[in-house]
Amino acid sequence: MTFPFRKHIAEIAPYSTARDEFKGGDISVWLDANESPYNNGVNRYPDPHQKALKQVLSQLKGVATDRIFVGNGSDEAIDLCFRLFCEPGEDNVVAIAPSYGMYGVAAAVNHVELREVQLREDFSLPVEELLAVCDAHTRLLWVCSPNNPSSNAFPQEDLLRLARDFQGMLVVDEAYVDFSEKGTMLAHLDDFPRLIVLQTLSKAWGMAGLRLGLAFAHPVVSAAFAKIKYPYNVNAPTQAEVIRRLSSEPVAEHVAEIKAERRRLEEELPGIACVKKVYPSDANFLLVEVTDANAIYDALVAAGIIVRNRSRIVGCRGCLRLTVGTPAENKRLLDVLRTLS
Ligand SMILES: *Cc1c(COP(=O)(O)O)cnc(C)c1O
Repeated sequence: MTFPFRKHIAEIAPYSTARDEFKGGDISVWLDANESPYNNGVNRYPDPHQKALKQVLSQLKGVATDRIFVGNGSDEAIDLCFRLFCEPGEDNVVAIAPSYGMYGVAAAVNHVELREVQLREDFSLPVEELLAVCDAHTRLLWVCSPNNPSSNAFPQEDLLRLARDFQGMLVVDEAYVDFSEKGTMLAHLDDFPRLIVLQTLSKAWGMAGLRLGLAFAHPVVSAAFAKIKYPYNVNAPTQAEVIRRLSSEPVAEHVAEIKAERRRLEEELPGIACVKKVYPSDANFLLVEVTDANAIYDALVAAGIIVRNRSRIVGCRGCLRLTVGTPAENKRLLDVLRTLS
């Protein structure tokens, strides 16, 4: 199996940390890394390989540790994909639109052409068009599912078709997968070596403040991520807190409540005068077309509620994106919306 890495990647020797060079033994005096010797809980460098954390994630996700990359949010993995696979000014990537803004930002920062393909009117995936805009220089195909901001997940058969027929790396961003009934692509990693699946602890897992994103990939690809990342890309408190919280956060309960509240909003919003359309959602937010997005956005802000105004985005005209909150927060949102026309 060959991967479309940039040519110089193979020649890079990664930074060797003090703890990489140390090969075991019963050490109690650490004078190898120029750290402070005074124990305040964070005076030592964190594990650059995040071994303990990856063990826990491996158990949780049913994916071998050598297929896991962890980084400073999904955003780090997104940037590393460009740096691994795309020659600036030469290669291109394809993404759906509307979708997550970071693909475009990372493309621009890395000086890589982004070819956007509009989703269909009903936000379904234009599989043939996506494949048709790819050429010999297309290294990455970005599909966010469930998609932000359209909120729908795409059928697995569409994603599998892209995995089969696209010659570069298919990146499926599953940030919202915990809220969807349509399943994950993780089970297909074995069948498709050029598949990368992104997940995050920022949404359903309630740890946006800790910054932990995951990429699941072929072991050769995750080794390449590890080779070019910052050595200490996930700090020690984050590694420890994530390990602790993965076994203690009531995530299943929270996800169940968010889905019940999403259903309640889906039922109640269409009866409100200023609401024109509520798109079906597989995520923890709703894309809602309203009578006057800017005016309603301002009115909500004046009432102390902030939502995301997506009305200027092609394909989302007149739409606000509403994150599902607690029952009390959602009630406040509905109460304020009912006063608007
Ligand atoms: C929120 C979100 C993420 C998460 O990014 P982090 O850097 O992990 O917080 C990733 N992808 C999409 C599509 C998102 O909406």
